[in-house]
Amino acid sequence: MSRSLANATVRTQISVPLRFADGYSTTARVFSFDGLVDGQENLACGLGDRAAAVTSTGRRPVPLVRPHSECLTGDVFGSQRCDCGAQLREAVERIADSGGYLLYLRQEGRGIGLYAKLDAYALQDAGLDTYEANLALGHREDERCYLVAAQMLLALGVSRVVLLSNNPDKAWQLRRFGVTVTARVPTGVHLSATNARYLATKARKGAHMLDFPLSAG
Ligand SMILES: [Zn+2]
Repeated sequence: MSRSLANATVRTQISVPLRFADGYSTTARVFSFDGLVDGQENLACGLGDRAAAVTSTGRRPVPLVRPHSECLTGDVFGSQRCDCGAQLREAVERIADSGGYLLYLRQEGRGIGLYAKLDAYALQDAGLDTYEANLALGHREDERCYLVAAQMLLALGVSRVVLLSNNPDKAWQLRRFGVTVTARVPTGVHLSATNARYLATKARKGAHMLDFPLSAG
């Protein structure tokens, strides 16, 4: 991959005060970009004390970063079929506490799109698991690509990150695209009666590092 082909630049940045349903509030510095290779309107949300990241010695502490893939049903409507809404809420607070970026990636349904994700839900209701359903629809198990996440980070001047994720593939892809992952810290497990099977499948087939009782549910 040619680095010059993949260069992105910050297009606009604005402050957005956030307030979640549980009352938690913080302020995000929202960045948009030119030159992202997927052509999508992906966002980076700067959270917490990033300005203090430059110390008197000129050395920057490594920001905490979470690439979050869009999930309309989970993020906006609080769907309990998955844990995306809870993951997003947790990530915003943890990043605001440490200073870093939440990357909001427009790759709904592990990259297959919103309608296809709903089709996959219908297949899951007929007995397939979340990965089998994607395959039955002619998609790969997981089509997400983190190249644009790397592009956004590099456009923000961030080449080293502490990655907030349970997914080893995110770290592997970011490294491949030129971002140094100095450490990976896990997110919490947001278990409910309706997402137990989904989470167990993610842990078993998606190689997610979840501290999760696989025999349950
Ligand atoms: Zn979701």
